[in-house]
Amino acid sequence: SGGEFVPNPRHGSKATAKLEAAQQALARFPRVRRDERTANHQRAVQRVADLHRRVRRQRLDHAHKTALDLVREHDVIAHEDLKIRNMVKAPKPKPDPDQPGSFLPNGAAAKAGLNHSISDAGWGVFLTILHAKAESAGREVVTVDPRNTSRTCPECGHVSAENRPTQEKFHCQSCGHQAHADTVGALNVLRAGLVHRDANPA
Ligand SMILES: [Zn+2]
Repeated sequence: SGGEFVPNPRHGSKATAKLEAAQQALARFPRVRRDERTANHQRAVQRVADLHRRVRRQRLDHAHKTALDLVREHDVIAHEDLKIRNMVKAPKPKPDPDQPGSFLPNGAAAKAGLNHSISDAGWGVFLTILHAKAESAGREVVTVDPRNTSRTCPECGHVSAENRPTQEKFHCQSCGHQAHADTVGALNVLRAGLVHRDANPA
């Protein structure tokens, strides 16, 4: 068994870039009733719908292929529990000082939260496929509590938010261990998964 990175299902395809361009083109048409759309406007609507379908199909194909590869190559697969992750990483609303008890719309954080929910929807689909394939192949998939997986030093066990100076970098404030933050996260998830499996033999 071993660790494995799964590419983010949101990123990468040409169809995704085309969809974004088509959505921008569609947004330039005035908002009118369906029967008042010009022929060009109708074509722009149709193009967005077609590209949506294509992107969905590509993601599904990619998810099936990636899940199959993982199940073939590994006896144990560990991943973060998305439900807990969403609770931990939901953006905090900002209190409005002029109106106690109300909240300001929190632009950047709200957008980060939205982007998260989009990528988590992709992950949700992927994990459903992965669990189904693993079950039929007799492989084990372990769900891990994501808290501290990104800030625990895999060398000495020191836990600190300061171990993670940037999104990409891990630098242990206790022992000086340095690595890519994704590598550290994956290693911690796998270790937690193996501990969980040993504590709960099938
Ligand atoms: Zn350390």
